[in-house]
Amino acid sequence: MEIFFIGVGEACDSAHGNTSVLVTTDSGTRILLDCGFSVPHHYFHTFADAPEPDYIWISHFHGDHFFGLPLLFLRLWQMGRTRPLPIVSQQGVAERVREVLDLAYPGFEKKLSFKLSFHTVSPDDTVSIGGLNWSTAVTEHSQYNLGLLLDDGKKQLYYSGDGRPTEPVQQLVQGCDLIIHEAFRLVDQFPYHGSITSCLQLADIAGVNKMALLHLDRDFRKYELEKINKLLKTRPGTLLPVAGDRLTV
Ligand SMILES: [Zn+2]
Ligand SMILES: [Zn+2]
Repeated sequence: MEIFFIGVGEACDSAHGNTSVLVTTDSGTRILLDCGFSVPHHYFHTFADAPEPDYIWISHFHGDHFFGLPLLFLRLWQMGRTRPLPIVSQQGVAERVREVLDLAYPGFEKKLSFKLSFHTVSPDDTVSIGGLNWSTAVTEHSQYNLGLLLDDGKKQLYYSGDGRPTEPVQQLVQGCDLIIHEAFRLVDQFPYHGSITSCLQLADIAGVNKMALLHLDRDFRKYELEKINKLLKTRPGTLLPVAGDRLTV
C-alpha cells in the first residue's frame, strides 16, 4: 500500500490543511480517507494529473472530515468522470452527503455525470468492498466516529478519524502494519481527542511498530514542535508527516 498525506491538520489548521489521506493498494485501488473543507484544493493542487479516487471513506460528519465533498464532486464532474463514486461510512451517510451537496450546489446531484453510491458499515461486521476488507471500531469523540481498518489481503492499515482509542480499537488494530492516528495534544487533555501519549500506548498494546500522527492541535504543533520531535526521536517508527509526504507499507 502507498500512503499519501494530502493534509495533516485539525479543522482550523491553515498551515497543514484538514487531515486527509490517499491510500493506493498494490492492485491500484485508490481510497480517499476523509475530505474536509480544504482537501479538494490541496488534492487538485498537488497532483498535476489528479488520480481519481475509487472509494471515499468518511470517518464522521464533522466539517473538517466531509465538507470538501461538494467541491470534489464538482471537480470530478468537470473532469468528465462517468463511473460511479462509492462512499463508505456509517449509517446515514447518503442523507448527510446529499444534504451538504444540496446546500453547496442546489440540485447538482441530478447534473452529475456520475452516480454517487453508498455503502454503510458498522462495528459489528467486516464488509468486503472493492476487494478490500473494511472493519471498524467506535472511538471516543464528540460525534459518532468510526476508526477504519483496511485490509487488502497483504497489509492492514488503521485510520482513526477523530477520537481517543477505545478498547475495541485496541483489539481491531492488533498487529496491523500501520496506524494513522489523530493526536491532538501531548497527553489526553480534551475529552474527545487522542494524544501522542495515548497513541504510543496504543501502539505498544497492539504490537504495532509503524504509526503516523496527525490532526494535532495547531498551536500545540506550532509552539511545541521541538518537544514533540524530541519525544518521537525515542520512537523511530512513529512519524509526524506533513502534507505531501508519502509512505509505503
Ligand atoms: Zn477533525
Ligand atoms: Zn471530529
